[in-house]
Amino acid sequence: MPFYSTNYSLKCLACGKEYQEDRHLLTCNQPHGPAFLRTVYEKKQLTIRKDAQGMFRFGDWLPLRKPVKNIGYPIAYKSEALAKHLGLENLWISFCGYWPERQANMLICTFKELEAPPVLSRLANDERTLVVASAGNTARAFAELCSANNIPLLLVVPEKGLKSLWSTKPFSNLVRLITVTGDADYSDAIKLAGLIAALPLYLPEGGAKNVARRDGMGVSVLAAVTEIGRIPDHYFQAVGSGTGGIAAWEAAQRLETDGRFGENHMKLHLVQNHPFAPMTEAWEQKSRTIPEIAEDEARKRTAEINAHVLSNRRPPYSPTGGVFDALQHTHGLMYAVTNEDAERAGKIFETLEGIDLSPAAKVAVAGLVSACSKAALRADDVLLLNVTGGGQRRLFAEHDIYYLQPQIEVRREDICENTVDELFA
Ligand SMILES: *Cc1c(COP(=O)(O)O)cnc(C)c1O
Repeated sequence: MPFYSTNYSLKCLACGKEYQEDRHLLTCNQPHGPAFLRTVYEKKQLTIRKDAQGMFRFGDWLPLRKPVKNIGYPIAYKSEALAKHLGLENLWISFCGYWPERQANMLICTFKELEAPPVLSRLANDERTLVVASAGNTARAFAELCSANNIPLLLVVPEKGLKSLWSTKPFSNLVRLITVTGDADYSDAIKLAGLIAALPLYLPEGGAKNVARRDGMGVSVLAAVTEIGRIPDHYFQAVGSGTGGIAAWEAAQRLETDGRFGENHMKLHLVQNHPFAPMTEAWEQKSRTIPEIAEDEARKRTAEINAHVLSNRRPPYSPTGGVFDALQHTHGLMYAVTNEDAERAGKIFETLEGIDLSPAAKVAVAGLVSACSKAALRADDVLLLNVTGGGQRRLFAEHDIYYLQPQIEVRREDICENTVDELFA
């Protein structure tokens, strides 16, 4: 299949400085507070490249530099049963996962599959190994895509994320895994990965700061809007870091500039899993900073939520161009739903729409149910519900499943520079 590289530059959202040649630039080099870079694409109108592979059909607005294999892209369809149940006339669903009847073929079964291919395509060919910290789902996506493309990868995952590291194919031995044990959570993995990525032959993936990751996630909105024909009025998504929410906001701005999809009034509705809802708490105060909570309280709340992937304790909320700005610009709303709300909503979705959901996607559906009950929406508004993960049960029933095994285990208490120096000496 043909591969098209993309012409783009990067622009700092704080000072406006532009960078032409990036090769994995993550932050602006000027002296100002934390701020995101954003891609500025040469093509202002999006042409879907039907001959390109998978998600690269949206390559006009992805920072693509070299060919890499990728897998699928999200489907979008207009809901009938769930829409009727909620009294909505224009409910659209973006589905990231496996659902053969609807030609949905994202074999990682979450929208993290959209992050890895553009990140890998943008990487320079050098000797450095990419380091990715993850609660589980991002690691699965990078493990699968690095395996498929023979790209060296080092994953750092809390022990309880291990069961998320599966694939329908065996993994390449270029993919190495470190688990953090001793009741570790995502934040511990981030800390250890940060120490490793500072070593000379390693490279931090960068998370939300990486424009390739955000623009990859934005494909959910591009795929849906090109199907709907206009920018929706509301966008619903479950968030832990909020990177997908930022990405949706950025994609809607590009689509407005394109000119063919109407004005952009897309309001973000971002949903967290109570009692772990730091961004919801901050936004309720209209505060740009996340309230400090004690370490053991944060761990306790993390352990209580069913949607573990939503447990980021240091989300990119405050930087210029981060979640706070996205909410402010779109007059957005934040929600916190309980495990019980999410389970109930997930059951309704599965019964009415006919596919199983990941725990995080159930949280998003519960947020939508809550918005409907609060009358925050008009019946004829155009809504986009991002079902960020689904079809895993279906996939497991129909495929052989392989698990990635850890090479190294590090106890949570042992995370420090000395340990890292010893491990990588
Ligand atoms: C990671 C993840 C989310 C949350 O994404 P953000 O980075 O917070 O935008 C939601 N759903 C699923 C299935 C995920 O894996």
